[in-house]
Amino acid sequence: MNNYLAVDIGASSGRLVSATLEGEQIHLQELHRFNNSFTERNGHDYWNIDNLFDEIIQGLRKAKQNGIDSCTLGIDTWAVDYVLLNKEGRRIHEVYAYRDARTLHASDKLLQLRRDQFSELAEPERLLGPILPELIQQCDLPDCQLILVPTHDTASAVAGVPSPREESWAYISSGTWSLLGMERSHPLNTKTAMQANYANEWGAYGTYRFLKNIMGLWMIQEVRREGDSAHSFAELAQLASAETPFVSLVLCNQSSFLNPDSMTLEIQRFCEATGQPVPHTPGALARCIFDSLALSYRDALHELQRLTDETITRLHIVGGGANNELLCQLTADLLEIEVQAGPSESTAIGNIAVQLISSGALEDLKAAGRTIANSFPTRLFEPQPVQGMEALLDRWECLKIQTTSHTHISQ
Ligand code: ADP
Repeated sequence: MNNYLAVDIGASSGRLVSATLEGEQIHLQELHRFNNSFTERNGHDYWNIDNLFDEIIQGLRKAKQNGIDSCTLGIDTWAVDYVLLNKEGRRIHEVYAYRDARTLHASDKLLQLRRDQFSELAEPERLLGPILPELIQQCDLPDCQLILVPTHDTASAVAGVPSPREESWAYISSGTWSLLGMERSHPLNTKTAMQANYANEWGAYGTYRFLKNIMGLWMIQEVRREGDSAHSFAELAQLASAETPFVSLVLCNQSSFLNPDSMTLEIQRFCEATGQPVPHTPGALARCIFDSLALSYRDALHELQRLTDETITRLHIVGGGANNELLCQLTADLLEIEVQAGPSESTAIGNIAVQLISSGALEDLKAAGRTIANSFPTRLFEPQPVQGMEALLDRWECLKIQTTSHTHISQ
């Protein structure tokens, strides 16, 4: 039986999974999981790239120990960042994290870059070759053939959506960021789309991700970290469920929430400045974050429907955020749309799906969507009426008017 390995590294965690296809079902096994974060040194935020490499090697070693002698291997990671290499392919500088203050003003400088400073663009499915023989020997690794998958994790996450691609659907890839958009066969290059900050990102098999980056679970990750990780994400969602809804709201896409010294203080400061009750407990902070994220999803989905002139009938939430039942239900209720949540590992699954298509085991993205739906449990959230919805939306609009002077995330 063929083995397929996916290395999937998000901004908050990485994992290495193995998969096989048995009949109409993909079987996934997580072999290795590790944390990912940037650290501050000399006033700058850097990723620990060497550590990521070591974690991949550890994962591959575990694959071998699990009896996998040969396989194909695809790697996807978060995007936005860059690594400067010399002609020999060696790293010549530390890798700045996108939340480092210097990157906020980088877009002007980007315009000075030349095409020949980048490596060539390549389509998914290209065979890159085997792992270096000396590494295989030194570390006792399986014989892996590296294959290009959709290397941006969002591209793999969208390839991993359990949709047969027959209806009008949108997605939120819900992790550190929330990426909300649609899979399209053509880019949408209108001025209004550009002004609304939508991108047309090139995806697998000639698809385009017409999408927007909005604030994601980064806010809760930071609040959790600042609380010494005393509660798990599941506990924070549970605590939030027990709180009164919509007490305090924050405009989460404001740039002040991008990388504040303290997320907790920034949320409290915003609530105080806008005359709202100030959340102090983990539950109240989490509630404020989830309510506000769901309201911002509502804005983004309406904008997406306007821009594409499509009526979206189903919203898929994939990624770690699909585990957050409160946020999924809130999203269904506030967006008044059916939400299908899961799989939470859609990125690794999309990475594997492209390997399966390239090996001929699956025909295309549609077949992959059907097989994924058939292989992994998902949860359906039907929209429920929200008490006082009109007043809530009025408050939300007023908040935006009150704070128009602040800049917004503009990735
Ligand atoms: P990334 O790929 O950006 O690192 P993930 O897709 O792994 O992010 O999602 C991580 C997020 O998923 C966490 O920040 C957390 O908010 C959420 N999450 C994961 N598991 C759970 C859970 N059991 N309950 C609630 N939220 C969860």
